[in-house]
Amino acid sequence: MRTVRYHGDHVVSLDDVSVPTVGPRDVLLAPEAVGVCATDTHIIEGHFMSRPPMALGHEIAARVVQVGSEVTSVQIGQLVTVEPHLYCGTCFNCQTGSLHMCPARRAPGVHLDGGMAEFLVVPDTLAYAVPVGVPAWQAALTEPIACCVHGLDRLEAKSGMPIAIFGAGPIGAILTALAKLQGLGPVIVMDPRESRRDLASRFGADLTLDPTSATFEDDIAAVTDGVGFPYVIDAVGSPRVVETAVSIACRAGKILLLGVADPSARMSLSPNDIYARELTLLGTALNPYTHRRAANLIPSLGLDRMNAGFFALDDFQAALEAQVNGTFDKVLIMPQQGGKAVAA
Ligand SMILES: [Zn+2]
Ligand SMILES: [Zn+2]
Repeated sequence: MRTVRYHGDHVVSLDDVSVPTVGPRDVLLAPEAVGVCATDTHIIEGHFMSRPPMALGHEIAARVVQVGSEVTSVQIGQLVTVEPHLYCGTCFNCQTGSLHMCPARRAPGVHLDGGMAEFLVVPDTLAYAVPVGVPAWQAALTEPIACCVHGLDRLEAKSGMPIAIFGAGPIGAILTALAKLQGLGPVIVMDPRESRRDLASRFGADLTLDPTSATFEDDIAAVTDGVGFPYVIDAVGSPRVVETAVSIACRAGKILLLGVADPSARMSLSPNDIYARELTLLGTALNPYTHRRAANLIPSLGLDRMNAGFFALDDFQAALEAQVNGTFDKVLIMPQQGGKAVAA
């Protein structure tokens, strides 16, 4: 079978390998749609700990083609989304209720073979059935949606309250849709790129702003009558964004750090400011117990408002470039489709 593998040292190639074998509690999947995201770029750039050689792709929707002798949860022919994490079950975190913090965690597409392949084997516990009628490319977004659901769980936001979101990529768009579903409002989304602000508007943002504009601070003050935001999300992963997020939070506000920042990045905050305004800074990582909920939410999110770009396995290089360049709202590889790139 053909598979896009990372070999370390920034080397990615389309390889021919044998189809993996299926154990009694495994399922053999034919990936139909695999999301490309910044994590893949970080892996290739060497900023993200991976275990090469392995197939890339952790945002996976796939058709079940074979099940092990003891599998009863899914059937052959069913469309599933892969929850891309295996936890050790024996460490402190696994045994005390924060399994996603497991230091021995292994993830398909990062440490194990992922979905950018014609076939993939995963344990049945990672194959989640998708609601009927959801197309494969939307099912492939379950993992990023699940990360957003966990982030909003962390925020414990109350309906009827305003929220500010920095970053209007696919994650910002999903957060916007989820915030609207939760009854938050107005939802204000900030991004310097006009095409991204347009995406946020399509996903229901009440107002979009360019954080680099000269009137930004006045615009923000006008939205909240000078009070500030009770909830602010950094979906960029930038120290400057977090500093701005803190500055526009209201007293007793909460700031959620959801974007993946460079590990060497540092920011400048005033401890007195955090203390005196009783601010809460929240980290959020991965998708503990939210993959099922995310799959259930897909029909309510209006994901067809996203301009998705579809690429064949052969065109993985073009897909990776399109992800970096932001050519599409979301880039996906379609491992079962041959031929050239197909734009949505
Ligand atoms: Zn991702
Ligand atoms: Zn563990």
